[in-house]
Amino acid sequence: MRRILVSAMLFAVVLFVCSTLFASASYADGVSNDVYWINPDGGTYYHKDRNCKSIHPMFLPLTVSITAEDLSTQSYNQLSPCHVCMDEETNFDRKTQMDGETLLDHILTSYAEKGAVLSDQIQIVWHDVNFRKSPGGKVLGRLQGGEILDCIDETQFNGQLWYHARSSEYGEGYVICTFAKPVWNNLHYWPLNDDEDIITDNMVLYEYWMGSYQLDHGLSIVEEVGSDRMLSIAPMSVRGDMSVVPDDAKIQIAVKLFEYGFICKNDAYNELIDDTKSLEARNWIASSVLKNHYGTDDIWEITVRTSIALFIHVNDLHTEGQPSGRDRMIISAVQKRLVDEH
Ligand SMILES: [Zn+2]
Repeated sequence: MRRILVSAMLFAVVLFVCSTLFASASYADGVSNDVYWINPDGGTYYHKDRNCKSIHPMFLPLTVSITAEDLSTQSYNQLSPCHVCMDEETNFDRKTQMDGETLLDHILTSYAEKGAVLSDQIQIVWHDVNFRKSPGGKVLGRLQGGEILDCIDETQFNGQLWYHARSSEYGEGYVICTFAKPVWNNLHYWPLNDDEDIITDNMVLYEYWMGSYQLDHGLSIVEEVGSDRMLSIAPMSVRGDMSVVPDDAKIQIAVKLFEYGFICKNDAYNELIDDTKSLEARNWIASSVLKNHYGTDDIWEITVRTSIALFIHVNDLHTEGQPSGRDRMIISAVQKRLVDEH
């Protein structure tokens, strides 16, 4: 998300892409103009992805395509949707046997029941970082950038936050928070049944909250375009009206960054939620938290970037790799629910 740079010139493009996305999203329930890919030599599935990973590479890319209408004809009605690449298209996750709406409900319920989402891993963000036996103590070894460790606990020492973590190479030890960050995706917080945890990420929850917050405060709006209702992400830029921004917007957003596990809770969090402190003092802390996390404390830029991540660059919801079909289904459910609720 932080990689995205937004300029005013992009807005026309962004709004256009946004409406295009919503237009194509509405195909899910009706007739689709999309093409599907098939292997005419004995294939029993149709695919969304012509390079689908379920197919032996020697047959890739698939070269024969059919339309949604073709699927109901006698030649093709024996074909089934591919298990690997079609879950998003059919809005049905085979592993959990749920649609996107139900998956979203499970995440929200799980969050409400547990009260908090805590990151259980940290990632090293610098080179040759000391891994110590105790905070400030003997060096056990050096950790490299990108390394991921199980996080056992957090502790304060000499006014600094330290992560108590487990390294496969050095065992248990401590890393100062300056050189590590919580891994905020891939959280195992959603036990589906006794023997399996489904992994999703808390970015979805943050985006859902942020989307609601923006709509509730007029930072974005739902527009009627013909018979469609869609989110417009940039009313402030259109109106040039910053007066709609609540006085405590920075504080609210910074608090959520802690509560959704992007930042391990620390003294700044305690001060942000301490309402005996003045709004001015808390806003000052919130600004530094936002600058640290987003590189800016500009509410307009932060909210627009978040909207773009939610509605266009779904990849930016994730630190690495592609979102899975399941992730996309959940995100579609978030988008739909936000529009329906407003
Ligand atoms: Zn496939």
